[in-house]
Amino acid sequence: MLQIAGIQPLSTVDWPGKLVLTVFCQGCPWACVYCQNHQILDPRTPGQVPWADVLDLLKKRVGLLDGVVFSGGEACRQAAPLLSAMQQVKDMGFAVGLHTAGAFPRVLETALNSNLVDWVGLDIKAPASSYPQVVGKAGGNRAWESLEILLEGAQRNLSSLFDYEVRLTVFPQMPFDPAEVVRTCAKMQVRTLVIQKAHSQGALPKFANTFTSWDAQYEKIKENLSQITDVKLLFR
Ligand code: SF4
Repeated sequence: MLQIAGIQPLSTVDWPGKLVLTVFCQGCPWACVYCQNHQILDPRTPGQVPWADVLDLLKKRVGLLDGVVFSGGEACRQAAPLLSAMQQVKDMGFAVGLHTAGAFPRVLETALNSNLVDWVGLDIKAPASSYPQVVGKAGGNRAWESLEILLEGAQRNLSSLFDYEVRLTVFPQMPFDPAEVVRTCAKMQVRTLVIQKAHSQGALPKFANTFTSWDAQYEKIKENLSQITDVKLLFR
């Protein structure tokens, strides 16, 4: 059974352009410095919302919602329950979106190859070698492998609906140069890279305390990254 920390019954922001119900899956193997969801990272915390209740709600929303987004935490951590939940949602006629940081490339691959997912928002956190400083442990190779899998899938034109976005969060005192990530994404022919500005709300105090003159620093980062023109950048 999918371990669910909570749901957002109606969201216009979790899948750009779509009206969705968002499912926040419990547990994440990582602990990003800027994470705003600390309370849902521990995989031992029991789920708060039964999947059957989500299905009941969805039955009442047929024709009103475009789709369901599985978010987290890290949704792909729960491989079998996630894939089964995606199938049930598809069978009800909803489109399926997935937020992932790419820690489980095989799960992403299975979801794509089984046509269970119509849209993916993939977070790339850093160059692979800098993951320990950003997420608290190694794992960068898995995230970049997930990006390769996603791009291969997108090239195969999985379904007429299929789309994706790759996101990079920039934050104060970054231990790497974000331009390196942007250039690598450009080389890999990522279509659009969303640059997300970190916020201090909800973050741990140690991180929130680094936000002095962050707005000015961010404008500089934005200006520098805008010089790179071989990938479309969206600033959010
Ligand atoms: S991958 Fe996402 S949910 Fe997991 S720690 Fe990082 S920001 Fe938080």
